[in-house]
Amino acid sequence: MTEAVLGWHKDNARKFPWRESSDVYRVLVAEKLLQQTRADQAERAYLEVIARWPDPCSLSRASPRELERVLKPLGFYRFRSRELIGIARALCRGGVSEEGIRSLKGVGDYVYAAVLASCFGKPILAIDTNVARVLARALHGRESLTRQEARRYATAFSPILEELGPRRVLYALLDLGSAVCKRINPRCGECPASGLCNYYQLGAPASASSKAR
Ligand code: SF4
Repeated sequence: MTEAVLGWHKDNARKFPWRESSDVYRVLVAEKLLQQTRADQAERAYLEVIARWPDPCSLSRASPRELERVLKPLGFYRFRSRELIGIARALCRGGVSEEGIRSLKGVGDYVYAAVLASCFGKPILAIDTNVARVLARALHGRESLTRQEARRYATAFSPILEELGPRRVLYALLDLGSAVCKRINPRCGECPASGLCNYYQLGAPASASSKAR
């Protein structure tokens, strides 16, 4: 299934500036901006943040008001601004180890896993709601994973991730969840994983089957 999804992704990958970087600061900025935000909106804010504050030390000295102004269109802007400046200060002070990143305020399981995969090449799968939905449907034929399953799947695919690249697999699943395995009306007929997907094989909902080619 992974190979089929990666094959599909060659022609369907979304391009975002943070996907070109393995810098911890840039990846953390991107992940914080992406939370509960459409990727195109997050992209505009990301480009402005990085243009104005290209490294953690410059952001650590930023005026919170100025950062809030940039983040306002995304919502939760005061909260995000506080967290980002806090993260930037910690990174600027130095000495934030790979494990230490998890203890930064605002870095939860998903963001931490995304940083480990994107910046350190660790074979760990970052599971957000989109990835969880794809895995739940494909592997279990249902809509969501339990907390235990999500925890287990974060490391269960380590050999595959090591072989194929954790970042590559993560982006493919994120893009599949966004473009094909949508929350409403998944496009199973266009899906590279449909041959092995429990949700589809067990009789996808009418909305999904009706889209099948
Ligand atoms: S076949 Fe349908 S439900 Fe299964 S992964 Fe693809 S889009 Fe999602």
